[in-house]
Amino acid sequence: MERTLVIAKPDAVRKNVVGKIISRLEDEGFKLVALKKVKLTNEQAGQFYIVHKDRPFYGELCDFMSSGPIVPMVWEGENVIARVREIMGATDPSKAAEGTLRKLYGTNVGENAVHGSDSPESAAYEIPFFFSGIELV
Ligand code: ATP
Ligand code: MG
Repeated sequence: MERTLVIAKPDAVRKNVVGKIISRLEDEGFKLVALKKVKLTNEQAGQFYIVHKDRPFYGELCDFMSSGPIVPMVWEGENVIARVREIMGATDPSKAAEGTLRKLYGTNVGENAVHGSDSPESAAYEIPFFFSGIELV
């Protein structure tokens, strides 16, 4: 069964909406496989988002993702990668569809409440970034 890495970003933790994000994913029928709370260093955030290293917002993104605790989690289900991307909505919350997680809980294009893997290849990098085999249950 397909798996994806979801992160409740620092703004979602600060807004106390981690439970709402989890509830929504449960309501969609996905299975929670792993979950933890961590605080990344700037360097660790940079490693996680290494595919964006040449983008103009990379520094800002690393600062934001290391600005407070985050809640990474692994979710499992049919077509979960694409479906979670839909449920999250557009990167910019102001452009995200009504009812999406970013529309509901995001602040701006940088601080957009939630991350979701964008492909099986990304998930294969992102899941072991946070979780070891025995944590994936
Ligand atoms: P994510 O990878 O976090 O799920 P995404 O796939 O929708 O988001 P990406 O293009 O992969 O969007 O960008 C990664 C993250 O970088 C975004 O979620 C956002 O936090 C930040 N970001 C993207 N574009 C901008 C921008 N123009 N200005 C500031 N931050 C940005
Ligand atoms: Mg992305």
